[in-house]
Amino acid sequence: MLATFASTNLAFGQNEFYNNNKFKQLDEELPTPNVYRTGSGAPGHEYWQQKADYVIEASIDEKLHRLTGAETVTYFNNSPDVLTYLWIQLDQNMRATDSDTYKIRQNKVGKKTNINQLAAVDGFPDYDGGHKIQKVQDANGKDISYTINKTMMRLDLPQPLQPGEQFSFSIDWYYNINDRLLMGGRGGYETFAEDGNTIYTITQWFPRMAVYDDFNGWQHKQFLGNGEFALAFGDYDVKITVPSDHIVASTGELQNPDDILSDEEKKRFEEAKTADKPVVIVTQKEAEKKEKTKESGTKTWHYKATNVRDFAFGSSRKFIWDAMGVDINGKTVMAMSYYPKEANPLYGQYSTEAVAHTLEVYSKHTIDYPYPVAISVEASNGMEYPMICFNYGRPEKDGTYSPRIKYGMISVIIHEVGHNFFPMIINSDERQWTWMDEGLNTFCQYLAEQEWEENYPSRRGPAENIVNYMKGEKNNISPIMTNSESIKQFGNNAYGKPATALNILRETIMGRELFDYAFKEYAQRWAFKHPKPADFYRTMEDASAVDLDWFWRGWFFTTEAVDIAIEDVEYKELDTQDPKVEEKKRKGERDNQPKDITSIHNEEVNLGRRVDRKPELKDFYNSYDELDADYEDYEAYKKYQKGLNSNDKAWIAAKKYVYQVKFKNIGGLVMPIIIELQYEDGTSDKKYIPAEIWKMDDEVVSKVFVCDKPVAQLVVDPNRETADIDTENNYFPRQTQISRFQLYKSGASQPRTYDSGQLNPMQKAKKNKK
Ligand SMILES: [Zn+2]
Repeated sequence: MLATFASTNLAFGQNEFYNNNKFKQLDEELPTPNVYRTGSGAPGHEYWQQKADYVIEASIDEKLHRLTGAETVTYFNNSPDVLTYLWIQLDQNMRATDSDTYKIRQNKVGKKTNINQLAAVDGFPDYDGGHKIQKVQDANGKDISYTINKTMMRLDLPQPLQPGEQFSFSIDWYYNINDRLLMGGRGGYETFAEDGNTIYTITQWFPRMAVYDDFNGWQHKQFLGNGEFALAFGDYDVKITVPSDHIVASTGELQNPDDILSDEEKKRFEEAKTADKPVVIVTQKEAEKKEKTKESGTKTWHYKATNVRDFAFGSSRKFIWDAMGVDINGKTVMAMSYYPKEANPLYGQYSTEAVAHTLEVYSKHTIDYPYPVAISVEASNGMEYPMICFNYGRPEKDGTYSPRIKYGMISVIIHEVGHNFFPMIINSDERQWTWMDEGLNTFCQYLAEQEWEENYPSRRGPAENIVNYMKGEKNNISPIMTNSESIKQFGNNAYGKPATALNILRETIMGRELFDYAFKEYAQRWAFKHPKPADFYRTMEDASAVDLDWFWRGWFFTTEAVDIAIEDVEYKELDTQDPKVEEKKRKGERDNQPKDITSIHNEEVNLGRRVDRKPELKDFYNSYDELDADYEDYEAYKKYQKGLNSNDKAWIAAKKYVYQVKFKNIGGLVMPIIIELQYEDGTSDKKYIPAEIWKMDDEVVSKVFVCDKPVAQLVVDPNRETADIDTENNYFPRQTQISRFQLYKSGASQPRTYDSGQLNPMQKAKKNKK
C-alpha cells in the first residue's frame, strides 16, 4: 500500500479547506471569459487572428548542404491594435554556435563517455547552422531596421501598422543544413554511406511570423528545442530548386507537373486518384538507377498551399513515391508516401494505407480533412508539418522486421499524419502547451490504432499503460499544465497522460456519446483558429453538461494518482425482531464463541464443581438464560408487525444481503468508484458510483450495497479503467498476487528468459522451419 501523496498546491489564498477542495470550480485557474473567448469555450463574437502569406524561392546546394532562400511576407493586421513592430522566428538560430540550446543543456561525464557527446558539449564548434540574414527590405526595396535576439527577430515597422492594414516585406537568407543523424534535429540531411546519396528534410527553414493574439500579445518565447511553435495561418507560394533527378515531397499542391514529371509518372498519378490500393509513381528500380547516375542539373518544383500554418518539404533522388486517393466525405485527398529503398518492403506495404486510415478515422472524430494531400516521408524519425510528415520504418537488410518496427512505424505514421488536425488545423500554441497537440493527437492515434486491427499493441491510451508513470516519484513528474520547456518525462507527461485521461473521460466518466460529441465540437469550433487550454476544458463541459472541473483539476493541474482501496466491508444482517428467530440466532452466536483456555483445561481434568456435587445449591439463576425471549419481546414484535404494510413485509421476506463498504482514497485523485460485486453463485454485478461521492470527504466514504444473494468478493475497478496504481487493495477479501520463479542447479546453465534471442520473430520462424 502506498502513502498518501501530498497534493500539488495550486491554490491561492488562506482557507485551506476551501482551497484544497477537489471539486472547487476552476474559476481562479482559468482566464476570465471575454469577447474573444467565451465562457462556453467557443471563439467570442470579436475573435480575431492575424494572417501571414508567403512567397518563397529556395534552393538546395547539395555539395555544401546549404539552403538559400528569398521570401516575401505579407502580414495582415486583423487585430484591433496598432503594431509598431513585428516579431519573426529564426528557428535555425537554435543551431547557431552561441545557441542557448547548447548552453542550457545539462551534462555529466560518465565513466564511459561517447566522444561525439563530449565534442558537442557546447554545440558543434565546426558547424554554424544559424540563419544568415542578408537583406530585409520593404516592398519598395528600402532597408528595414531589425534586431535579432537569439531565435527571434524584431522588425521595426517604418509606419505603425493600423488595424485592418497589411504590410509586405522581404528577407533574403541562407543557412547550413545540419547532419540530422549526427546533430539531431527535426529536419536536416541524412547521407547513405552505401550509395553516397542524401535525403533532405527541410523544416522550420524560413523566417516565420510569430503569433500575435488576444491572449499573449506576441508569442515570442525563445526556441530552445522542446516547445515547438506557434504559427499564424496563411497562403504559400513556394518554388523549390533541387538537383534535377530529385523527387520533392512537399506541403501543398504541385503547380508545374508538366515541367517536372515524366508522362509515365503523370499517368500513374492520375491512376492513383481512383485506385483502391497505393499506385507506385516512382518505382524502386527507377530510384535505384538515379542513385547511380547522380545528375548535376537543377529543376524547380512549384507549390501552392492555402490556409496552412507552416510549410515543409523533403527532397532526394532516393525517393520511391506511391499514392492513393482517399474519399473524405465526397472529396478526394491524395494519401502519398516517399521513401528510400532501405524502407522497403515495409513502407511500401503500409505507409500510404496508414495515411489513408488516419485521415478517415480522425475526420470522423474531428473535422473532415481539408487539404488536398497528406504525405508520409520515411526519414528515420517522427515529425509533423502541414500535409507532410517524416517518419521511420526500415526493416532488416533481409526484409524481415520485428513487431516493434512494424507497429512502431504504423503508429508513428498515424501520429504524425494525425498532427495535421492537432496542431496544424486546430492551431494550439505548442511553445506554451505540449499536451494540447501531443495529448489530443495521441488520444486520436489510439482510436485509429484500435481501428487498424484487433489487439493492436497501442503504447499509449489504455489506462493500465500509464500506471507506472503515475506511481513514480513525485519529484520526477510535473502536472500536465506545465510549460513545454519545463516538462519532466516529456512523453509520459504530454503524450501518455493526457491521452489516457481523455480515454478515461470517453470510456468511463462521460461515455462515448457525450464525449465524442463534445470533442468533435471542440475541433469544429477551433479548426483554423488558435485555442487555449480553457477553450478545451470549457467546450468539453459546455457541450456535454458534465461538470469536469474536478477532473481537469486532478488530472491536468496536479501530479496525484488514482488509488482507491476497499478499506473495510461489514456484513449487516437484518434483525427480524421475531423473538423466536432472534433468540435462536443469539444463542447460536454465543455457543459459537471460541472457548477460553481455562475452561478447556478444566474440562480436560474433569474438575468436579461444588454445585454439581451439591444440586441443592442451584436456584432460578442456574437455569435462567438471559438470551431467552420474554413476553415483552413478543408484545413488541406484535406491535412492530402491525406497523408494517404489505410492501414492507414483502421487502423483509425477500432475504437481502446488506454490505457496508468503506472506501479510501489513497492516491489523491478523486475518481468514480467502479465496483463489482461477485456473488457466491458465480454471477456478478458492476456498479458505477460517480466521482461526486467524494464531494464532502475526499479521503474516506462509505456506501451500502443491498444484494439479493451473498457476495463472495468485492472488486474495485475490475476492468482496470481508472489507472489505479495499487490494485492489491482493490479486492476484498484481499487477493494473493502470484509471481513465478525458476529453479536451477548451480553450475548448470541458467533458464532461458522469454525472447532472449537476437533474431526477430520473422527470422526465427525461418530457422524453425529448417
Ligand atoms: Zn507528436
